[in-house]
Amino acid sequence: RFAEVQMAPPIEVFAVSKAFTDSTHEKKVNLSVGAYRTDDSKPWVLPVVRKVEKMLAEDDSLNHEYFPILGLEAFSTAASKILLGDSHPAFGEGRVTSVQTLSGTGGLRVAADFLHGVLKYTSVYYSSPTWGNHRLIFQLAGFTNLCTYRYWDAEKRGLNIEGMLEDLSKAPENSVVILHACAHNPTGVDPTQDQWKRIADLIESRKLFPLFDSAYQGFASGDLDHDAWAVRYFADRGFEMMGTQSFSKNFGLYNERIGNLVLMLKDPSCIPAVRSQLTLLVRGCYSNPPCHGARIVTKVLTDPALFEEWKECIRTMSGRIKEMRKGLRERLEKLGTPGTWDHITAQIGMFSFTGMTAAQAKHLADKYHIFLLSSGRINMCGITTGNIDYVAEAIHDAVSN
Ligand code: PLP
Repeated sequence: RFAEVQMAPPIEVFAVSKAFTDSTHEKKVNLSVGAYRTDDSKPWVLPVVRKVEKMLAEDDSLNHEYFPILGLEAFSTAASKILLGDSHPAFGEGRVTSVQTLSGTGGLRVAADFLHGVLKYTSVYYSSPTWGNHRLIFQLAGFTNLCTYRYWDAEKRGLNIEGMLEDLSKAPENSVVILHACAHNPTGVDPTQDQWKRIADLIESRKLFPLFDSAYQGFASGDLDHDAWAVRYFADRGFEMMGTQSFSKNFGLYNERIGNLVLMLKDPSCIPAVRSQLTLLVRGCYSNPPCHGARIVTKVLTDPALFEEWKECIRTMSGRIKEMRKGLRERLEKLGTPGTWDHITAQIGMFSFTGMTAAQAKHLADKYHIFLLSSGRINMCGITTGNIDYVAEAIHDAVSN
């Protein structure tokens, strides 16, 4: 039987990272995978995370018993509060419930399983382009109508709001619409507040179901509240909706798989039934979540001093990214690289959608050992003060040829 198995297509981002690892070139640069790097090109354990890990290691009251199926409630509540805002009335009204998940991906999968398996939704809309995993998650959860809505305007190098609204206006009722809460991956372009209002009007009038994917809260602007504006706006309007949170990037806890699925309902009396169905889904999938990331995040979010330290770490990361954006744009403009480069600083978050073609990306890999996705997306964190000149000159060469 195994002889019948066909080779699945490679996952591009991991294939490109492997090409980087395999390269022996001394100036090689990895601009592919979405993980923060310091200015020395090193992964960063946030000092506040290290501090809390030491506290946890010393705490003899902790053990390795199973977590509850839906995870640590203190974690889920604290996480939901940074997404919706501490004092959101929905908390007082008992209309919010949440579940610890295996990071953002796991949250999206539990959401998709619930939306399909329990609410019987079959249709999902995601932006073109979007994060490479959205389609796969919803397909594997059983969604059969997997559709894109227009998002990126290649000419303007910005949001195609009219195309987005037109495509969503044609979506069948009860379609799920995946929205990036902030720092859209891969384009780095978010709707303005006025555009969000138009999107919300359409979702409401077409009876669509909003699902916010929040993977970069704090990373975009350095300010947690600012980056949650769109989610809170929808919540204020009273939508029934879901939000998934990832603590991979903003806590640097990539391999701890710590995330949260937040559900906002109109009627609090539905919550026990909803939680009972979520319990079955999780039980039949991975039974219960891991504890380490949940303990770290809970401690930081519930201790005012640690919370301030964390916010400082976020500002360090987002600040370095902004510096690199500015530096790259300045260099390309100084070199006279064909095209305009203001989008590099206009875009926000970890990624820049450079506008480079697949051929130009290949040229960068072959000639300079600079690795990026064929879509032209680069992870700004891969750029450092040590390699920014090399990267700019290589891009100049690739674009000029
Ligand atoms: N959503 C988006 C848009 C992302 O870019 C990512 C990670 O790159 C995720 C969700 C989920 O990441 P994780 O599963 O590590 O939380």
